[in-house]
Amino acid sequence: MEYEAVIGLEIHVQMDTRTKMFCSCPVEFGAEPNTNVCPVCLGMPGSLPVINKKAVEFAIRASLALNCTVHTESVFARKNYFYPDLPKGYQISQYEKPIATDGYLDIEVEGQKRRIRIRRLHIEEDAGKNIHEGSKSYVDLNRAGTPLMEIVTEPDISSPEEARVFLETLRNIMRYAGVSKADMEKGQLRCDINVSIRPKGSDKLGTRTEVKNVNSFRFVQKALEYEIERQVKLVSEGGEVVQETRTFDPSTGKTYTMRSKEEAEDYRYFPDPDLLPLVFEQSWIEEIKETMPELPHQRTERYIKEYGLSEYEAKVLTDNKELGDFFERSVKALNEPKTIANWLLNDLLGLLNERQIPLEESPVSPEGLAELVKLIKESVISTKIGKEVIKEMVETGKGASQIVEEKGLKQITDESAIKGIVQEVVSRFPEEAERYKQGEEKLIGFFVGQVMKATKGKANPKLVNQLLREILK
Ligand SMILES: [Zn+2]
Repeated sequence: MEYEAVIGLEIHVQMDTRTKMFCSCPVEFGAEPNTNVCPVCLGMPGSLPVINKKAVEFAIRASLALNCTVHTESVFARKNYFYPDLPKGYQISQYEKPIATDGYLDIEVEGQKRRIRIRRLHIEEDAGKNIHEGSKSYVDLNRAGTPLMEIVTEPDISSPEEARVFLETLRNIMRYAGVSKADMEKGQLRCDINVSIRPKGSDKLGTRTEVKNVNSFRFVQKALEYEIERQVKLVSEGGEVVQETRTFDPSTGKTYTMRSKEEAEDYRYFPDPDLLPLVFEQSWIEEIKETMPELPHQRTERYIKEYGLSEYEAKVLTDNKELGDFFERSVKALNEPKTIANWLLNDLLGLLNERQIPLEESPVSPEGLAELVKLIKESVISTKIGKEVIKEMVETGKGASQIVEEKGLKQITDESAIKGIVQEVVSRFPEEAERYKQGEEKLIGFFVGQVMKATKGKANPKLVNQLLREILK
């Protein structure tokens, strides 16, 4: 029998606020353990939480970016469980009345558009972190109380690749919306995977397993590939999938049983008596809507319309916010969008990739790239020399003009200088010159090559062509 996978994701996104969700402690990565804490986030008796307005604004922005309905009234609830990194013995979350529901995110996998529905988005706080060293364990509560959004999809995802693309698209949107840096390596975007299988074409859901806290796009894909294969094998051999929580080990590429899956009632959710329902005016949502930053698909359309880029170029540039920002800064310095897009996508990115340098650390700045393109546009150097110069720029971090100056790469545009070289070349190859005159016109390429060789590629190609035709006549 053939099986298909049914996948849903729960994603925790850390909001990029200065302070925590219910107190004024700073949110900071890599601080000394237990330095960014106060009675509220330590869960001291008698301390009272205060809602971070910025975090609510970010959650609304994210909800709008994900096409959700934002509710002007939502309720904070306590999710009760015991764990050393949870000082209050409960996590403040939203349960029955989340801030947003019923959205969607469109993704594209291998040229196919897919719409993944978003069931809900709610606000909650993060827990602390347990650190294990040898036989000792420590608790760092710096992270406790960090504002999070939990985004839950409907089980609309049908392959490991789709899951990866969904997450990449989501990360991109979170960055564009300016609500999170969504850096998986820093734990700012974490993903739980729900997956089950069913006979292909069936509309019944099978028993699902949950793989917790997978922390890279690649691992999400890998964990799913393994888990689907495991379930298919189990069921094909007459076994049954057990509902449980599993963990993924990147070193083996396998998932392992962690614990039997807990049900919602295990958490004894109830509205937090210390917090009033979160209520705001519809007008605030409208205000946020109006000041929404540009989203990826809007930017793609603008690049096509405003800059005349192809759909492909526009998509690649906007697929990654940093890349789009780099491009725009470059275009600001020199209004040659098409040529800049070309040099950025075809040359600079390739050179950086080869050297495994991330764009943020590029030795060539956006303005530096514009400077290079300007030299080419103004015929100071040829395109061919430009390719050498950009390589040198990446290697040395020097500016284009400086390299051209130091290496004497300026294009020879002086007609009499080129004429002399052309005459010299023609006289060196009398036989070819004769054949050209007899009508073997394709030999022009040979002569251009020879002149370029003699000038180390610095002669203006248009002039060379023109002068060769004159002299060979
Ligand atoms: Zn605090």
